Amino acid sequence: MADIVVIGAGAAGIAAARRIMAANRKVIVVEATGQIGGRCLTDTTTFDAPFDRGARWMHNPDTNPMIKLARAAGLEVTPAPQGQKIRIGRRNARAGETEEFLAALVRANRAIDDAARGRLDVSCASALPKDLGDWAGTVEFMLGANATGKDLKDISVIDRARAQERSNAPIACRQGLGTLIAKLGEQVPVSLSTPASRVSWSNRDVTVETPAGKIAARAAVVTVSSNVLAAGNIKFTPEIPKRHLDAAAKLNLGSYDHIALQLPGNPMGLARDDIIIERSDSTRTGLLFANLGTSSLCVIDVAGSFGRDLAGQGEAAMAAFAKEWLTKLFGSEVAAAVKKSSATRWNAAPFALGAMSAAVPGGQGSRKILTEPFGCMFLAGEATHEALWGTVDGAWESGERAAEAALRRIGALRDTEPAAAPARAPKRRQRAAPIN
Ligand SMILES: Cc1cc2nc3c(=O)[nH]c(=O)nc-3n(C[C@H](O)[C@H](O)[C@H](O)COP(=O)(O)OP(=O)(O)OC[C@H]3O[C@@H](n4cnc5c(N)ncnc54)[C@H](O)[C@@H]3O)c2cc1C
Repeated sequence: MADIVVIGAGAAGIAAARRIMAANRKVIVVEATGQIGGRCLTDTTTFDAPFDRGARWMHNPDTNPMIKLARAAGLEVTPAPQGQKIRIGRRNARAGETEEFLAALVRANRAIDDAARGRLDVSCASALPKDLGDWAGTVEFMLGANATGKDLKDISVIDRARAQERSNAPIACRQGLGTLIAKLGEQVPVSLSTPASRVSWSNRDVTVETPAGKIAARAAVVTVSSNVLAAGNIKFTPEIPKRHLDAAAKLNLGSYDHIALQLPGNPMGLARDDIIIERSDSTRTGLLFANLGTSSLCVIDVAGSFGRDLAGQGEAAMAAFAKEWLTKLFGSEVAAAVKKSSATRWNAAPFALGAMSAAVPGGQGSRKILTEPFGCMFLAGEATHEALWGTVDGAWESGERAAEAALRRIGALRDTEPAAAPARAPKRRQRAAPIN
């Protein structure tokens, strides 16, 4: 018997378990896959540099707890890539054009914020100024698909406006964010390759069934993604309240994938960690991160409805798109220089079923609903964080928060004890394109 059982060993699950251990209570974590990390997963073997297949950047260095944790774990935190370049066909944007783009971005952000103060929670697309001209498609991509995994028509203005801004000067962990979460979970009792299949819960206790047997506990923290929850892949007895299931469905995951290419010899002539945005009037575009951490690893991110369709066609189609797109922007020598490629397909990953949550129009209130306990059950994970959804630090904070609520529930924490991580106030929007 454990005091608290945690389902899922991603960032939220590991944070929850560490918090429970810090309170000297017995925790058991069950994880469906063969490794710790969930949507933080580093591939260290395919390329000459670690390839983060999921999350890669730590945003907002002043407040992000992951940066401190990475340093404390002895990992290297690498300085932020500086700024972004815009490509218009085969040439770089002129300074005046870049200014125009940034101004369009500011106006779009402001329009979304204004709409979020209205009576109805409408879609971000409906709030967008109609006169963004040549930059409309690029602004839509940067604020929609690239920032959240969804097109702007599928995102709530309130959700977008409440999201804490993700700095355009993100920090990477040289060894990878997946490596970081795995390291932070080293002392945590995690049972790998142990999917929870059924959870029987009441006001007093909970039993989690797995192929390896049953685990009884006095409370549970469930950290699976909103799509996994809504898909009903874990059976709950009694069923999860409909209110929570509806909330998970309204926080469904967007599509976001990386296409990684080994491009030796720097055929694009770019600097270390250069970020390239294409001025595009179609959704068939991506975001390029070149020469990651001085390596020859270049990553093209595809997202939103276009990314979903492309990923649905498989890895070969994704690699083909990456080459075609780079040829359009930099010439055919680049495609010829590709030595190796690998692409993620998060929508098809059975224990994630997508990339990151973003509320559908009208669905922002769902985040709060997901944090409401039922019986001795506490939900956590990025989708439950009101301002830091879709991030690793949001997932981490949500795990700590749910663990504290569960500890209080079993009488292991007094109501007066302060929370581990006070909620952070949303930061004002900056004048730059957010990157994921
Ligand atoms: C491609 C991509 C890029 C991203 N980029 C960034 C970024 O740059 N910066 C950033 O901050 N965030 C980024 N994110 C988002 C970030 O990865 C997530 O917000 C965060 O990792 C979610 O953590 P979590 O613990 O909430 O969920 P998860 O990581 O999904 O953890 C849930 C765990 O539950 C397990 N599980 C599922 N079903 C069961 C079951 N039945 N039994 C037991 N275990 C189960 C899963 O295997 C998983 O390990 C990105 C995400 C993706 C996909």
